Amino acid sequence: MVLVLLHMQFENTLSFAQQLDANDKLAHFKHQFHLLTHNNKHVVYLCGNSLGLQPKSVRAAIDQELNDWAKFGVEGHFDAKNPWFGYHHFLTENAAKVVGAKPSEVVIMNNLTVNLHLMMVSFYKPTVTRFKIIMEAAAFPSDLYAMETQVKHHNLNPNEAIIELKPREGEHTLRTEDIIATINANADSLALVMLGGVNYYTGQVFDMKAIAAAAHAVGAYAGFDLAHAAGNLHLQLHDWDVDFAVWCTYKYLNSGPGGTSGVFVHERHENSELNRFAGWWGHDEGERFQMKKGFKAIPGAQGWQLSNAQIFPMAIHKASLEMFAEAGMENLRAKSELLTCYLEFILNQYTDHLTVITPKNKDERGCQLSIIVKQDGKKLFDYLVSENIMPDWREPDVIRMSPVPMYNTFEDVYLIGEALKKYFA
Ligand SMILES: *Cc1c(COP(=O)(O)O)cnc(C)c1O
Repeated sequence: MVLVLLHMQFENTLSFAQQLDANDKLAHFKHQFHLLTHNNKHVVYLCGNSLGLQPKSVRAAIDQELNDWAKFGVEGHFDAKNPWFGYHHFLTENAAKVVGAKPSEVVIMNNLTVNLHLMMVSFYKPTVTRFKIIMEAAAFPSDLYAMETQVKHHNLNPNEAIIELKPREGEHTLRTEDIIATINANADSLALVMLGGVNYYTGQVFDMKAIAAAAHAVGAYAGFDLAHAAGNLHLQLHDWDVDFAVWCTYKYLNSGPGGTSGVFVHERHENSELNRFAGWWGHDEGERFQMKKGFKAIPGAQGWQLSNAQIFPMAIHKASLEMFAEAGMENLRAKSELLTCYLEFILNQYTDHLTVITPKNKDERGCQLSIIVKQDGKKLFDYLVSENIMPDWREPDVIRMSPVPMYNTFEDVYLIGEALKKYFA
């Protein structure tokens, strides 16, 4: 695939785009989604980084649980086709494949920011000397608020405890060498490095393996928010030796608005004495209904569960994960690289008018490209929407385009170019 990418001569023609689609082994997956239309015209949907489209299989998956609820009432916990008592077990194997983990290292539960707080309870236990957190200055706001309030919870001052990473003057993205230098400069006081796997604004991918190694070398933990990475990158969380990770499932994982979330805890911490906020669903499954005192955690990530499973969001996620297992994250990523390289080629026809701020190196980005338009970006964004192209707009000045390998086509990318051609003519 790499060779193909290096040597491929892209062409800005419909026939070339259609040829790429004809060669695409994953092309049939788009028929398994409800693609958007407007006035009976195809909409080029580029917001998979925000809310993935609906897989058609979701409706039957929800119906299954509705029917079993109607038929069995509470007995559905054991008698449903997919018994609710251990529902998370139906998701862990496929979720583990998506993030490159062992099934015991992964659990699906709650929502993303909730899970981030739960992980902070376990992995952020500041001491008088070791209390600092390194994060991106331009992190997603929920992560900024989570870190700020976690620090305050320990009676510390966020201005002293949180070290913000900022790009160098005149640059848009962070350099790995600068992240590692910041880790080393705070070697004695650093408790945790908490970054996104992919920055939501610039689309930059962080070198999670190198960052985790640098954090561990100074005695700190490394955790990642994979909201924009899960279902997008070919992750290897276990091998990269990441301590913990959290992600949502409604972005690239197509599991519905406000959908459930995933947690990874490295098996190294499986039986550790980490602090945690516990609930009955994380308690030894054999004893769960004995209603006894004294919390006994299930080994692994499942031991962080609090509440009984949210069957409906999890049923959606189960159906969606089955598609990921069938397609294979490696294949999806290979197509994604090609799709985004093609988008980059198309956008680069208009460098007089716009700049792509996402890294040019494909290993430093996922499918998203972030664009700054030299003049009135919002006007171009509105124009694209009127042309049935649907990117998203992020204040203050970025248009994000995220062609995804599950349901976007090379022809979609070509159509973006056609709209730009009209606009800039
Ligand atoms: C999308 C996103 C969130 C959203 O958090 P929820 O708890 O799912 O509402 C948080 N953090 C990052 C980095 C995100 O990209």
